[in-house]
Amino acid sequence: MSETSNLTSVWQAIASSYRMSLKTTEEINRWELHSPQFLTQSLVGSEFRIGVTTEMKRDWFTGLYAKALEETIRAAGLGDGIKVVFEVIKKEETKKTVEVPPVLPVQTNSEKPAPKAPTPRRARVLPSTLPLLENYTFENFVRGPSNSFAHAAATAVAKGLGRTAYNPLFIWGGTGLGKTHLMEAIGHYVMKHNAEASVCYITSETFLNEYVNALAGAALPAFRARYRKYDLLLIDDVQFIVGKKSFQEEFFNTISSLLMYNKQIVMTCDQAPKELQGGLEDRLISRFQQGMVVEIESPSYETRLAILRSKMQARHRLIQDDILNYIAENIRSHVRAIEGALNRVTTFMDVNPDTPLTIEISKYLLKDMIEEEVTIKSITPEAVINAVAEHYGVTVKDIKAPGRTQALVQPRQVAMFLACKLTTDSLPTIGKAFDRKHTTIFYGSQQIQKRISVEADLKQEIGQIVSKLGRQISDVLE
Ligand code: ADP
Ligand code: MG
Repeated sequence: MSETSNLTSVWQAIASSYRMSLKTTEEINRWELHSPQFLTQSLVGSEFRIGVTTEMKRDWFTGLYAKALEETIRAAGLGDGIKVVFEVIKKEETKKTVEVPPVLPVQTNSEKPAPKAPTPRRARVLPSTLPLLENYTFENFVRGPSNSFAHAAATAVAKGLGRTAYNPLFIWGGTGLGKTHLMEAIGHYVMKHNAEASVCYITSETFLNEYVNALAGAALPAFRARYRKYDLLLIDDVQFIVGKKSFQEEFFNTISSLLMYNKQIVMTCDQAPKELQGGLEDRLISRFQQGMVVEIESPSYETRLAILRSKMQARHRLIQDDILNYIAENIRSHVRAIEGALNRVTTFMDVNPDTPLTIEISKYLLKDMIEEEVTIKSITPEAVINAVAEHYGVTVKDIKAPGRTQALVQPRQVAMFLACKLTTDSLPTIGKAFDRKHTTIFYGSQQIQKRISVEADLKQEIGQIVSKLGRQISDVLE
């Protein structure tokens, strides 16, 4: 790479090779969310510098991408020993440096200067919206008993924008079950059928970051005005604002104002609104509940099979029924895992075009995923509490009791620590199992975390409990 390279096309090449190397939808989603925030690229000596607007982004993106991008640059033959450095740039600099290339779905970032060209009075997609993933449409969404209610509500909202009582529409459920897909499907539908409507898709994390930036740059009125003019505001993963007190007020005002003007809001969350109690203002929770709350559950066997068939067709593949059945039977946790399994077998087919894919090969390819499924399934906060109670010779009721009896503090905190380490549940869900607030769970867990590295006895004790639960001590050490 030389200093005279056309950096736009170099960056385009790097970004698209990196994008191609990603395997999971989670990674792709993350990249598509983040890369539009890489506002400038410059080459200084052997440093490929990427400009972002805040220190938080600089540190966060460095951890996530610096090494991987260096590797991409090297592998693509663009230069050996090039170091990727994220740097904080001033807002004005975004004008001077290289434009962000259109490798990814075009997105204007709120922190970039407004375009010079006259903008129509009502832009289709106003600034700061994140790109919708192309294939997250209703057509590609497989309906089944686990999601039919959510699907019906989502289609009603999309077809009758601003005219249904489902406002806000609150979609909740575990990770990888299709919440984002369904939410974006509403966005796609509205953009296709309603030329006038302005749509914004954003995660609550980005929303919060923009708010913080607006505060710092005294740009709050503009921030407020912008979010209040959408006809459809899609806010993904609202659980992120739990505990962020000062932001909740702003969030409340934004959604209240939109609702007042009959603008549609759709939110997703990994828990039901009532489970957010403690971490979220009550009035916000009641706002969430005021329209329609729908849950997406884990798909049944039939739905898993239907999803597999649909994804297989989308990829123009033919996989034998016994293999599809095997995947549907064994990968149960969530749809993203089902896709992951399908990816494994199709990759095998690509790499070995002459070897027929058999059930034996599939079993081999999916072995670790299936083992993981078994462990994901089996450990719940309740199982942890039982094991801990048994180990210390106390009852489950003792562990859940509200008091602070000294003798129960350690068993209780150990149970909290293990529930955090060994289950995939969120803190509020774990909190429910203990009849306590999520902050208490966090605190209790931290106490053990601190002690375990210095107290050999405690570590050994915990090791015994962990092995009763079918795991190893290394699973709970950082
Ligand atoms: P969540 O937001 O709930 O974590 P996503 O919406 O990101 O989950 O879905 C994870 C993956 O599973 C996506 O690739 C999505 O397309 C797919 N998916 C989930 N549910 C369905 C469904 N019912 N039909 C087809 N694909 C689905
Ligand atoms: Mg999601």
